[in-house]
Amino acid sequence: MILHAETALLPQGWAQDVRIRIEHGRIAEVTAGVPGRGHGAILPAPVNLHSHTFQRAMAGMTEGRTAGQDSFWTWRALMYRFLERLSPEDVQAIAAQAMVEMAESGFAAVCEFHYLHHPVGGGTYADPAEMSGRVAAAAAETGLGLTHLPVIYEQGGVDGRALAGGQLRFGSGPEVFARVLDGAGRALAGLPDAVLGVAPHSLRAVSRATLGRVAGMTAGPVHIHIAEQVAEVVEVQAAWGARPVDWACANLPLDARWCLIHATQMTPAETAALARTGAVAGLCPVTEANLGDGIFDGPGWLAAGGAFGVGTDSNVRISLPEELRLLEYSQRFAQKARAVMADHRSTGRLLWEEAATGGARAAGRASGRIAVGQWADVLALDTADLRLEGLAGDQLLDACLFAGRDGLVTDLWSAGRHIVQHGRHIARAAVEARFRATLRRLRDSL
Ligand code: ZN
Repeated sequence: MILHAETALLPQGWAQDVRIRIEHGRIAEVTAGVPGRGHGAILPAPVNLHSHTFQRAMAGMTEGRTAGQDSFWTWRALMYRFLERLSPEDVQAIAAQAMVEMAESGFAAVCEFHYLHHPVGGGTYADPAEMSGRVAAAAAETGLGLTHLPVIYEQGGVDGRALAGGQLRFGSGPEVFARVLDGAGRALAGLPDAVLGVAPHSLRAVSRATLGRVAGMTAGPVHIHIAEQVAEVVEVQAAWGARPVDWACANLPLDARWCLIHATQMTPAETAALARTGAVAGLCPVTEANLGDGIFDGPGWLAAGGAFGVGTDSNVRISLPEELRLLEYSQRFAQKARAVMADHRSTGRLLWEEAATGGARAAGRASGRIAVGQWADVLALDTADLRLEGLAGDQLLDACLFAGRDGLVTDLWSAGRHIVQHGRHIARAAVEARFRATLRRLRDSL
């Protein structure tokens, strides 16, 4: 397959009249200066590095104040109630819809931080990896690249208290989790570009003994929720005598295989120390804003040479441009300054390139750059759109992120699969109809 673009963002910068040859899902050749007809602008399509797809079905349902001061913890209460109703079929229907929306917004792949393993009340399905199989089936159906991260969830808090209520669907002892991980590996067998990793849920939900073993469980990436909420920082500090990121830097073998999700509560020293490990900061600005988590220290992270990517986490809204825009705007509010996440590159260019390469690193996926040997994860922009008229180079990306509308992606290829065409995912109609039926039934039963 051959793609042609008037302009494309290559690792060495913007190039004109670019011809990209794709073979077996990978980029086989990139040549600039070859006039031809095709797309206006082609960019590397980033990985969505953090998602819980099932939460897409709760979007918009937790914006009221339920008891006094609403907070993260009341959101979590609704999430648990909602969980009591989800069947494996529901999980697949919701995941497929979320993946369709991710592709349409510009993501070529997703890291699914998957913790819903078991039936209501605990125990296991006949196939302990039933739910992983459902996520893999949604990826197969939508063609979105998948890094699957089965989650280890062992306890209800840092004190080791037992799991209760909705948490029983997440929890596994070591033997059961080994079977989940094994089955998840088999479920991915039909997906040529899929990656299996592992995700200890958080410092509060996994024992220190298990944390010591996670890096050896797969050859793939390791993701963990870290330092999202102030209450969590206080809890870890009281129990273990160190703030979460300090503790992680001192006790976990952090390196480029690791992705620390949120990392919103860090001191300047923690920010610099964590950046130096090579671990990716997994930022989810829309969800972090929605949950009132706080603001990541962007300038401190960049100054220390840290890698980052973005994720849609709770999927309250699935939009790659909005994640990147809000990441920058939150910095502007905090710093009272403009163009905070920019260097010699403009803000839009820095955000896009760093999110593409950081997201790929977090996913253990050979992508994020338009270069020979990489998976062909690329997208085409609608350069005929009025907001992009007459713009080129970095300003094209700036306008796309700061002035554009959603839906500027006309086409997207994930490992060469042409899954978005004319701005719509090719399976949208069928996936959406099934999702709508699922949503009606779930919302009626709440
Ligand atoms: Zn999360």
